[in-house]
Amino acid sequence: MQIGPYCFTRSKLLVSDFDGTITDEDFYQCVLDSLGDQANLSYWDDYTEGRLTHFDALNEIFSQLKVGQDELLKLADETGVDKHLAEDITRLQDAGWDVVIVSAGSSWYINYLLEQRGIEVAVVSNPGDIAPEGCLRMSRDRESPFYSHDVGVDKPGVVRWALANFETVAFAGDGRPDEPAADLVLPELRFARGWLASHFQEQGTPFRRFNQWTQVAEALTTKRKES
Ligand SMILES: [Mg+2]
Repeated sequence: MQIGPYCFTRSKLLVSDFDGTITDEDFYQCVLDSLGDQANLSYWDDYTEGRLTHFDALNEIFSQLKVGQDELLKLADETGVDKHLAEDITRLQDAGWDVVIVSAGSSWYINYLLEQRGIEVAVVSNPGDIAPEGCLRMSRDRESPFYSHDVGVDKPGVVRWALANFETVAFAGDGRPDEPAADLVLPELRFARGWLASHFQEQGTPFRRFNQWTQVAEALTTKRKES
């Protein structure tokens, strides 16, 4: 099985969100922080109130920060990638887990952060480039088997594909677009932090809370005692 150039060889798959899940801070939040008082926050309200797609809301936020590639890469460095990520992915692979990152953000900064750490995993996300005016500009990958109009990436679609092709599927996420994907996996393999964890708690949906992505890797690679 393959996604993009990445071939899966293992029987278990961890499907993981990126922003706010593997990183402490969402890239779009770093963009907003960097804009400060200049930020137009109406786009996020338009999204949460259903007037704008998640994809368009993010792109409208990204379009406000016209600082060029070097500054945007510096901003990506400030998202706070889990410092154990590279060793944790190796640990997961050694324990029979493949990893796929599914993100409603952009592979433009995700691939940069992974390459910096020498990490090779499958990434399903929105392509992006730097527009002539110096902002990050995401594009829609309509040819992808996991294309979604709202988010750009069909996260539950990736999980359904995984459930049909792997013996065991885990999911880790933190945000609104993660909920329909997280709902599809078994409670003991459903990891949440941030908004998603609070939401599951309110709903009474069983899940496993994590504060750092390394805890997900730890939980999946440590054999639990049989009770
Ligand atoms: Mg997220």
